[in-house]
Amino acid sequence: MKAVTADPDALTRMLTRLKLTAIRDQLDSLLDTATRRKLTLLDTVKLLCEAEVARKDERRIQMASSIAKFPFVRTLDGFEFAAQPSLDMKLIHELATCRWVGNGDAVLLLGPPGVGKTHLAVALGREAIQRGYSTLFTSATALVTALTKAHHSARLDERLTHYAKPKLLIVDELGYLPLEANAAHLFFQLVSRRYERGSMLVTSNRAVSEWGAVFGDSVVATAILDRLLHHSHVITIRGDSYRLREKRRSGLIPQRATGKELEKST
Ligand code: ADP
Ligand code: MG
Repeated sequence: MKAVTADPDALTRMLTRLKLTAIRDQLDSLLDTATRRKLTLLDTVKLLCEAEVARKDERRIQMASSIAKFPFVRTLDGFEFAAQPSLDMKLIHELATCRWVGNGDAVLLLGPPGVGKTHLAVALGREAIQRGYSTLFTSATALVTALTKAHHSARLDERLTHYAKPKLLIVDELGYLPLEANAAHLFFQLVSRRYERGSMLVTSNRAVSEWGAVFGDSVVATAILDRLLHHSHVITIRGDSYRLREKRRSGLIPQRATGKELEKST
């Protein structure tokens, strides 16, 4: 302790060298807290370590989130469950524990546009990252485009490996555009490669029964669904678009408009 008091810079240098930057940067306030709370030496060490662990976790989550390429920042806390009464809140909170990711299960989030599928997918992806699972987010279109391009340049295996690697792969907006036969087959290859190894979260505006049309081939669709549905949680959101709901609240569109009229008014 004496050496430290004599040369406070020595402590700063050691903390820098040990990469304990949170302790280094917050040392004065952490020691103040310890004094105020009359902490024992052991508890003071614990307090310092907690600050360091918190910073390391925060950095790791930031880094993993940027690698995940989420389209926007969304959290479960920011999801208004009251706006979506058809949604089983308990099930979503159970999914937030990410046990399904640990088990390599799949989640399908189905429902019309604007009901919060992407929001929930991003929020669940964030929970996965917080629990240390590598996560990658992609739109179905971007995924299929990348696989097709790789296929043409004889790099398909490399691309499949890229998408097979993360513990959780989120594929958003499957079914907005029907896939060509070749694209559907490439998607099947990816699903096969990930099968029972990593989890997939797929969002779609089409019911599972319509996936034959999405993939343009009922055999491929069945093969894909076979694997996705084997260990899976299928969540169908049946409510109104959240954005339309907000507009209706503010009186921009009539209160009693039907679903069809609502769609037209956007
Ligand atoms: P979808 O993917 O089903 O088309 P999004 O998740 O993109 O819908 O939702 C559209 C917008 O509305 C997003 O900005 C999203 O955060 C917001 N949103 C949707 N549902 C809710 C909700 N229940 N609570 C809070 N925000 C919501
Ligand atoms: Mg979406």
